Amino acid sequence: MRTNCIFCEIQDDAKRIPVAQNELAFAIRDGYPVVNGHTLIIPKRHIRSFFDITEAERSSIFNLLTIAKNNLDQEFGPDAYNIGINDGQDAGQTVPHLHIHLIPRYKGDTEDPRGGIRWIMPDKADYWSDKP
Ligand code: 5GP
Ligand code: ZN
Repeated sequence: MRTNCIFCEIQDDAKRIPVAQNELAFAIRDGYPVVNGHTLIIPKRHIRSFFDITEAERSSIFNLLTIAKNNLDQEFGPDAYNIGINDGQDAGQTVPHLHIHLIPRYKGDTEDPRGGIRWIMPDKADYWSDKP
């Protein structure tokens, strides 16, 4: 538990029930969802980077990712998913406690979804329009 860490605080809040959890990780809905069902998979230990977790944590996190995906399939029936980690402030991380974004996607939720995560660099995203 790290004070001033929102994910440590959420985890510690007895009133707050995660959407899923296992021994070393928990899943919650994002508080500011980009789409319906936007979910975060979070290790229980306060650790900033995916590259610093133990094998046991990695296993717990990935198991929970699949469980959360299956739950979202049941609850929201999305057509696709984006899965992503902003690892480090310069990559866009705003909460310094590791979390995997699991973002359900729905046909037509954006005009043209091609490129997905490539849009972190808007100038480079649509490589297909440069192809001969
Ligand atoms: P990052 O920018 O670090 O990759 O993502 C942080 C995520 O945490 C954002 O998607 C943001 O909406 C979410 N978030 C920030 N504060 C809260 C909160 O108080 N509760 C929940 N459930 N999510 C939060
Ligand atoms: Zn934390």
